[in-house]
Amino acid sequence: MPHRPFEIGIMTETFDHIIVGAGSSGAALAHRLSEDATKTVCLIEAGPSDTSGFIKVPLGLIWLSKSRRHNWLYSSAPQTALHGRVVSIPRGKVLGGSSAINGMIYIRGHKDDYDTWAKAGCTGWGYDDVLPYFKRAESNGDPQLDDAFHGRSGPLSVQTQRTPNAMDNVFVQAANELQMRPCGDFNSPTPEGVGIYQVTQKDGKRHSSAAAYLAPILSRKNLTILTGAQVRDLAFEGKRVTGLSVTLGTHVRTLRARFGVVLSAGAIGSPEILMRSGIGDPAMLAAAGITPRHALTGVGQNLQDHVDMMVICSSPSKTPYGLSVGAIPKLALDGLRWMTSNTGILSSNMVEAGGFVRTSPSEPRPDIQFHFIPGRKSHRGKMFEYGHGVSLHTCLLRPESRGSVTLNNRQSGPVIDLGLLTDKRDEERLEKGVRLARKILAQSPFAKYNLTEIIPNPDTDDGATLRQGIRANARTVYHPVGTCAMGAAAAAVVDARLRVHGIDGLRVVDASIMPTIVSGNTNAPAIMIAEKAADLIKEDMKSA
Ligand SMILES: Cc1cc2nc3c(=O)[nH]c(=O)nc-3n(C[C@H](O)[C@H](O)[C@H](O)COP(=O)(O)OP(=O)(O)OC[C@H]3O[C@@H](n4cnc5c(N)ncnc54)[C@H](O)[C@@H]3O)c2cc1C
Repeated sequence: MPHRPFEIGIMTETFDHIIVGAGSSGAALAHRLSEDATKTVCLIEAGPSDTSGFIKVPLGLIWLSKSRRHNWLYSSAPQTALHGRVVSIPRGKVLGGSSAINGMIYIRGHKDDYDTWAKAGCTGWGYDDVLPYFKRAESNGDPQLDDAFHGRSGPLSVQTQRTPNAMDNVFVQAANELQMRPCGDFNSPTPEGVGIYQVTQKDGKRHSSAAAYLAPILSRKNLTILTGAQVRDLAFEGKRVTGLSVTLGTHVRTLRARFGVVLSAGAIGSPEILMRSGIGDPAMLAAAGITPRHALTGVGQNLQDHVDMMVICSSPSKTPYGLSVGAIPKLALDGLRWMTSNTGILSSNMVEAGGFVRTSPSEPRPDIQFHFIPGRKSHRGKMFEYGHGVSLHTCLLRPESRGSVTLNNRQSGPVIDLGLLTDKRDEERLEKGVRLARKILAQSPFAKYNLTEIIPNPDTDDGATLRQGIRANARTVYHPVGTCAMGAAAAAVVDARLRVHGIDGLRVVDASIMPTIVSGNTNAPAIMIAEKAADLIKEDMKSA
């Protein structure tokens, strides 16, 4: 998408609102705040514009997972519970942020997630409060879904997949054989069961938050979008944020904000900017050589992610997606299908089916999510593996383990300790989930595909060996949240209006504000957070 270039000659420029990060939340927020033509908005993005064909073509996500140009490509600190293994942490670095490189699955989470936030003191964030914002964002293309829960005319297009692979129904049938029921709407208040996911696509192409919220409003004269512009520090007058400094190529610019600065740099980027600006745990800041300006010990703490384990199987069948000589004619045909009708494998998000399941009937609600890939994923960090097969991810919806984002020093990047499986209860639950996944793959609908398990460990089923396999292979499904948690407790970073505690003129609006992780994928919730934040900011401007 083209954007107006920054006017290099202007050394200092003043806007009403400055938003840092044009990802899921930042793009949506910029759209809503610039609806008022009398207010100027500057949206700052470290990455480039989103013109790459790999972003528009859904299958391009395989390429984007390794693209230095569009992805921060973070790695975790060595994970103590995973034998010191380092886990990859992709994050979008482009207009649209992670929504431009993600798996496109459209999920909101469970009603109780939001009611738990409200009960913990986040007034205005219960399910009934946030539902209107999910609906306002959404334009759902499935007329069968209940309008009580779905929007029809929002900016974000949500669609039923055009040409899901035949293996998806095999997965659904196999799960049904184990009494996991079909789920008619994964975005009802209490989603449970299995099925094929809806995706954030429009006409078969990826619909990132930039495509949804920025592309239609580029002509707004009050909106300036800067790309390739990385924010380092905030500028202050006492305890008030007045602007920030941003690096554009070799130039450093100072921008001023009349009403306020909003950090929408994501669960890694937002706490990083706060810490670089001296807001955080004073002891950690001092150790990193940063002068503490404002003590908020929760900054960067409380990191949560959906810890995940894959069961990967190979298959001699050419029905699942895969790279093989025998699949070449089908792949060539799929190329044509994309060019003529945006269908076929190129329109696939790969993670086509899945569901929400309880590891035991005594669980009050689903505690694991499956992501089914009708293809053989690499467990060795490669983009592709030769051959065909299926991969079934099992992730914990509400892990107990917590990690952190910290800084070693001013110059270095963030130190991201995901803390995966550091709480023993997570390991026990994940083991139960992996056993369920294996059971699904062993059901009769899969029989004719002659699956051979590659990971975790094909030959053994005893607890110790399986847990060993989990520690050797577990990772996440890339949903870091919670590092600038909302709340009133001492460890909270922002209040229920998303204002940073103790600092004026500064908000955080992105996935980092979730006090506890939602039970599902995090793109739609990040967009909802921005939709609601826009109303909070507009209200505060009126009363200012
Ligand atoms: C590979 C992958 C697959 C995923 N799959 C799914 C899925 O299928 N469904 C789903 O719902 N969720 C999925 N997610 C998660 C979801 O996309 C994210 O939770 C969501 O996009 C987070 O939104 P955000 O606004 O908090 O952050 P982001 O969208 O990451 O936006 C942050 C933006 O801030 C910019 N930024 C950071 N630091 C600075 C700085 N200092 N200066 C300027 N700009 C800065 C970044 O470049 C980025 O553009 C996936 C994520 C990944 C990475």
